[in-house]
Amino acid sequence: MRATPPTPMRAPHTHRRRGFIRLTVVLILVAAAVGAGYIVRDKRLAPSDLQTWFSAPKPIGIRAGDALERLGISPDDVQPHGPSAAVRFIGITKYLNDSKAVVTHTADDSSPKVPDTIAALDRYDIKATLFISTQRGPVEELWPLLAKAVKNGHEIGSHARTHPCQFPSTRWFCTLAYSDDELSGSRDDILAHVGQSHVWSFAYPCGLCSEYPFVRDKLRHAGYLVARIYPDEEHGGHLLPDMNTWDTHRYQATYTQAVQNKGGIAPDGRTDVAEINAKFDEVYQSGGIYNFLTHPNWLDFKEDAFYQRHLKYISRREDIWYVPMGPLYAYQTATEHTKVHPLGQGRFAVVHVLDPGVFPNSVTLEFEITADVTQVKTARGIIAASPAGPTYGWDHEFYRIAGNRLLVTLQPNTVLEIR
Ligand SMILES: [Zn+2]
Repeated sequence: MRATPPTPMRAPHTHRRRGFIRLTVVLILVAAAVGAGYIVRDKRLAPSDLQTWFSAPKPIGIRAGDALERLGISPDDVQPHGPSAAVRFIGITKYLNDSKAVVTHTADDSSPKVPDTIAALDRYDIKATLFISTQRGPVEELWPLLAKAVKNGHEIGSHARTHPCQFPSTRWFCTLAYSDDELSGSRDDILAHVGQSHVWSFAYPCGLCSEYPFVRDKLRHAGYLVARIYPDEEHGGHLLPDMNTWDTHRYQATYTQAVQNKGGIAPDGRTDVAEINAKFDEVYQSGGIYNFLTHPNWLDFKEDAFYQRHLKYISRREDIWYVPMGPLYAYQTATEHTKVHPLGQGRFAVVHVLDPGVFPNSVTLEFEITADVTQVKTARGIIAASPAGPTYGWDHEFYRIAGNRLLVTLQPNTVLEIR
C-alpha cells in the first residue's frame, strides 16, 4: 500500500499572493473597460460597427424581381428576329451621347477656397466631385453653395466627417478611423443638405487605409460605388498616377494627374500648364477618361494662373462628356446592366435591375435608320431632339441624328418607341 502523501499546509503568504493577483486582474479589466468606453465615445463607435466589420456587404442598388415584368411585358412580347422596322438596334455607346472622351474632376477638403473653386469650374463648365468632410472647416457656410453646385451638375462626395489622418497609418488607426459614424454619418450629412438621390463617391482622407479589405467593405456597407485614393503623397506618387480609363479597382480608384501647388507632405506640385495640357491631349486623343484632381487650398485663382488656364484648355469640346466621378462610375454599372429587347414596329423595352435612386443614369442607344425619324418617345413622354455639342449631366433624355445613325439618350426601365 502506498502511503497517502500529507496535505501540504498553505502558508498565509500564498493567500495574500492570490488575493493580490485577483485584485490586479480586476483592476486591469476595469482599466480596459474604461479605455474601451473612452475609445467608443471618442470615435463615436456604435453597435452597427460590429456588424459592418464582421459581415459581408450586399450588392449596392440591385432590385429584386424581373425588370421586364415590372413594365408589364412578357417574354413572348420580345421579338428578337421579328419583322424589322426602319430602325435596327446596334448597341449601347461606351460614353454618354457617344462622346469620344470623358473629362471628370475631383477637388478635396472642406476649405474656405471651395467657393472660388466652384466659380472657376462654372466659368468653364467643368463638372467636378467636391469631396467634403462634413463636420470640419467652414462646412456650415458651404452647404447652401454646395446644394446649388449639385443643381448645376456637380457632385458632393464624402471625405469622412472629421478627416481622420495619421502618418504613418496603422491597422489600429484605420479600424477606429473608419467607423460608421465617419462613413455613413458623412453620407447622411450630405443627403440632408444637398439634393442628391445618393452619395456615390468617397475619397480617403490623406489617401490612407485603402489597403485594408475591411475598410473597403465598410465603404460598400455605406453604399459608396467608388472610393478615390491619393497614392504615395510622401514621394510624389500622387502627382501622375496616369489612370486614363475606369479603374477596375473601384475602392482603390486612381486618376490621371494632380493639378495643384505643392502642399501637405508632398515634395512637389504639378503646375506646368504645357505639361498638364499635354497629358490631357494624350488621354483625349486616345478616347479615354481624363480624371484630374486638385485641392482648393493649393490653387491660385487668377485667370492667368495654371488652374484656370488648364480648365479653359479642356473645356467646351463638342465630343467630350463632362461629368463628376461618382455618376461616371454609376453610368458604367448602368450600361453593363442595361438590356434592350426589340418588341417590333420600332418599339424597344429598355430595362435593368438597378435601383433608379442609386443609378439615375441615362444611357445612349445607337440605332441604324433607313427612314426619317419623326418622333421618339417613351412611356414618360416625348424625347426632344438635341444638336451635337458638349455633353453635360447624366440623367437627361434627348436624341440626335448623325447620318444614318440615331442616338437616343434615355433612362432605362421604359418602352422606347421610334417612329
Ligand atoms: Zn483631404
